[in-house]
Amino acid sequence: MARFTLPRDIYFGENAIEELKNLKSCKKAFIVTGGSSMKKGGFLQKTEDVLKEAGMETHLFEGVEPDPSIETVFKGAKEMQQFEPDLIVAIGGGSPLDAAKAMWVFYEHPELSFDDIKDPFTIPPLRNKAIFAAIPSTSGTASEVTAFSVITDYSQNIKYPLADFEITPDIAILDTSIPLTMPKKLTAHTGMDALTHAIEAYVASARSAFSDPLALQAISDIFDSLVDSYHGDKEARGKMHIAQCLAGMSFSNALLGIAHSLAHKTGAEFDIPHGCCNAILLPFVIQFNSRVCMERYATIARTLGLPGNTDKQLTDSLVKAIRELNVTLNIAPTYRENGVTEEHLNQKIDFICENAVKDPCTASNPRPISVEEMKKVLTCAFTGEDVTF
Ligand code: NDP
Ligand code: MN
Repeated sequence: MARFTLPRDIYFGENAIEELKNLKSCKKAFIVTGGSSMKKGGFLQKTEDVLKEAGMETHLFEGVEPDPSIETVFKGAKEMQQFEPDLIVAIGGGSPLDAAKAMWVFYEHPELSFDDIKDPFTIPPLRNKAIFAAIPSTSGTASEVTAFSVITDYSQNIKYPLADFEITPDIAILDTSIPLTMPKKLTAHTGMDALTHAIEAYVASARSAFSDPLALQAISDIFDSLVDSYHGDKEARGKMHIAQCLAGMSFSNALLGIAHSLAHKTGAEFDIPHGCCNAILLPFVIQFNSRVCMERYATIARTLGLPGNTDKQLTDSLVKAIRELNVTLNIAPTYRENGVTEEHLNQKIDFICENAVKDPCTASNPRPISVEEMKKVLTCAFTGEDVTF
């Protein structure tokens, strides 16, 4: 049966954090955040203040690292078991939001191991102990509305996207004053992550009449606002925060494709931020997929007002526009130019591509792909040659 699932409530706008005070039936809030950015910006204090004002006791778990580990997840889950919250509030980038979602699973089900929930749709029912509110501080992953949590196994350097509608948050709070403190590079990387979500969702095999309009609107808003947001325009930052969430609503239901399969495996191995991997991969993945869904890419290009008459010309225009966007955002277009050596690639390409084929995102890519083809796509993203097969 086809399904479309979103959080029950999405609060948005400046100072939306204050909406937490509406959660009057909750008594104990467990707050999860990253390093120091939310404290520095004053957003952590504000969150604690609002929760206390609403009569809640709070407990803080700080220090979730970028690309959170399985160890961090179990550490947080243990603290949750001791504190026994009925509300979990995650505030920060995709990393603390994702970590908090996984902690939630092991808080509600301490008997489970990470292996038990690695495969899509294997998470047992949640919400017997707590509900979940997410407050994103970057404009990219949309973890605040998605059914995903990306956790890294550092013993193997593999990222696992946990996927189940059980971990779709109950409440998303898009406070547009929070992303204003993002530095330029983070704005660029997370913005390209959001664009990749929307474009992959628009062609994904699980796309639907519900996910398509969200994806198209997100793509158009991102093209309108990402460059201005990068240059620090306040209004554009706010528009990007909403646009990335539209993309998230779409891809959480339509799923993704092989740009994400490869980003999950190369990001961990080459230590390149998730959004930067997607920015590199997206043009090559469009070229590969265009064999089977060129008319979909042509629709995107037409929506953006890009030049071309035939579907092929329009798809080429889309690839060109993404490459130009990367240049404007100072993102180098290949893995080589992002510091990966030929030796490192050759050493790991089999491992990366075998695992990328097994990544759950591959199953929803519009064109099936073998390990050999995955290696060719990755090689093109390393050298910069067009994908022509
Ligand atoms: P992260 O959460 O990893 O944060 C990256 C850095 O940005 C951190 O150093 C953080 O600092 C800093 N930061 C965050 N917000 C701000 C801000 N407003 N101002 C200043 N600095 C800030 O970044 P992303 O949001 O890009 O998340 C990436 C992760 O999400 C990856 O692991 C990726 O795989 C995953 N992901 C999840 C998806 C999902 O659906 N769940 C989808 C796509 C990706 P500090 O730690 O000090 O707060
Ligand atoms: Mn992503």
